[in-house]
Amino acid sequence: MDSKKVLIIEDEKSISDIIKFNLVKEGFEVETSYDGKEGLSKALSNKPDLILLDVMLPVMDGFQVCKKIRETNTIPIIMLTAKEEEVDKVLGLELGADDYITKPFGMRELIARIKANIRRTDLMKDLKDAPSNIKYFGNLAIDLNRYEVRKNEKALELTLREFELLKYLAERENKVFSREQLLEEVWGYEYYGDIRTVDVTVRRLREKLEDDSSNPKYIMTKRGIGYYFRRP
Ligand code: CA
Repeated sequence: MDSKKVLIIEDEKSISDIIKFNLVKEGFEVETSYDGKEGLSKALSNKPDLILLDVMLPVMDGFQVCKKIRETNTIPIIMLTAKEEEVDKVLGLELGADDYITKPFGMRELIARIKANIRRTDLMKDLKDAPSNIKYFGNLAIDLNRYEVRKNEKALELTLREFELLKYLAERENKVFSREQLLEEVWGYEYYGDIRTVDVTVRRLREKLEDDSSNPKYIMTKRGIGYYFRRP
C-alpha cells in the first residue's frame, strides 16, 4: 500500500512536531505548515490524503481555511479544537470538516481517527466502480451502491457522511429515528462526537437536497423525537 500523506496545519511547533513524529513512525508521509494561508496553498497544490487543521492560526484561521478547501475539494479534514471552544466544533462541521479532536488529545486516539477517516475516503473511491442500484424518490435518484445522488438529473456533491445518513433514512422511509440512534447507526463506534453533529449534517443535507431547506420535503423533523425520510 502507498504511504498516505497527511498535512498538519498547526502554528504551535511543539504540537506539530510531536504529531509529525508519531505519524512518521506509523508510516505516514507528513508535511507541516505553521500558518493558515500557507497551509491552504499546500492543501490545494499537494493533495494530501488528510488534513489536520488547527482552529487558531496566524494569517488565516482554521475555519476560513476549511471553507476555502471545501469550495473545490473533499479531502478529509480533522479540526483540532481547544477544550473551551465548544462552539468551534459545530462551526467546523458546518463548514465541512469531517471530524474534530479536542486538545489535549492522546496520540493513539488521533492516529485511530486519522486512519478511520482515510479508510472512509478509500471506501468511497472503490464505490465509484460498483454496479448501480438506483432508487427514485420524487425528483431524487439515489444510487445506493455508488453513493451518488441526482436531483432533477443534476448530480449533488455529498460528503460520505451526508450520503450515509441519507441512505440510512431513505432505506427506512417514514420511520422516525432519534439523534442518538442515528449517531450510533450512521457514525458508529469510531465516532466520539455529540448529537449536534446529526443536526448539522441534516442541515447540510437539506441545503443540498431541498428546494427550500426551511420547508423540507424529504428529510423531516419529528418534533421532540428526531428525523425521518419521506417520499414527497
Ligand atoms: Ca493554534
